[in-house]
Amino acid sequence: MTNIPVTPAGRKSMVPPADQLGFGKIFTDHMFVMDYETGKGWHSPQIVPYDQFSLYPAAMVLHYGQAIFEGMKAFKTEDNRIVVFRPQEYLNRFNRSAEILCIPRMDVAVLHQGLKQLLEIEKQWVPGKLGTSLYIRPFVIATDPYVGVKLSDAYKLFIILSPVGAYYAAGFNPVSIKVEDKYIRAVPGGLGEAKTPANYAASLRAQQEAKKEGFAQVLWLDAVERKYIEEVGTMNIFFKINGEIITPALNGSILGGITRKTVLETARHWGMKATERKISVEEVFAAHDQGQLEEVFGSGTAAVISPVGELSWKGRKITINNNQTGETSQKLFDYVTGLQYGKVADKHGWVEEMARL
Ligand SMILES: *Cc1c(COP(=O)(O)O)cnc(C)c1O
Repeated sequence: MTNIPVTPAGRKSMVPPADQLGFGKIFTDHMFVMDYETGKGWHSPQIVPYDQFSLYPAAMVLHYGQAIFEGMKAFKTEDNRIVVFRPQEYLNRFNRSAEILCIPRMDVAVLHQGLKQLLEIEKQWVPGKLGTSLYIRPFVIATDPYVGVKLSDAYKLFIILSPVGAYYAAGFNPVSIKVEDKYIRAVPGGLGEAKTPANYAASLRAQQEAKKEGFAQVLWLDAVERKYIEEVGTMNIFFKINGEIITPALNGSILGGITRKTVLETARHWGMKATERKISVEEVFAAHDQGQLEEVFGSGTAAVISPVGELSWKGRKITINNNQTGETSQKLFDYVTGLQYGKVADKHGWVEEMARL
């Protein structure tokens, strides 16, 4: 593939030190952009300075929410390589989300090339400390200036980069989660299996109420029976019951996480029983009462593994594993982060080198 044109940024920002990063507030000097118009298709991929851009107030994304996004990470290994974890998986999911939101299909090879060149230009921004990374945020918005519901005839795609600090700067911290029995996030046949801003808009109210009640996150139940477990706002969920790892099956309203897939594949690779099926909140609480609920953890790109120490449902609270990080949670976290930082041999071909320092 031919090289994508680059307009270098006039400024060169100071790359902040690893301990001052936080999450999602600092952006690198360049971004990848690409445009779409009906009749022309996706065109003009290029790398340009990170900056504000203009949009008509009538731009359709602002009125009807036709948008999708992704979230993946680049890491710096000890031998100074810049690697991305399973980039093809994330880019393929980007197209699955596009299909659900009726956004025209993108050429994954062009996105991959754009990302690779962008990372080559911005490689000094990838922090090296364990736990830190360069967060990669691709997204597409409908830009057609039209106030009326139809499919947009114009779209803009961006890939922006943000160096992020360690999620667990103070060590693993099991979180307290509220099983949401009032609000719902998604229904089968809806948008739940797409990575789209609407799912987050739908989660704000419940999340805010749960926060006020002292919970870190909400665990969503199915919208029809309010019985079966779906996922946490930004993470998929796993239960270890009697040595078996169980996660809700992808039913059309759950986001198919790449970390979820990695956890399932890794557990099976280790010879553990890892099952995708319907699991009710009643079953989880009953397993706890019988002393069989060994661990609960969330999985997602941001945290990798997030141990759950407490679950609360209709006012009843259970404590899992003494509010301590479980053995499997820890082992999965160590294995996946070990792969990402180049400390563990990559037997699966999950880690792709994008640049060298
Ligand atoms: C991104 C996301 C996840 C986690 O997916 P990963 O690919 O593992 O990062 C889970 N649920 C929702 C709603 C998400 O948007």
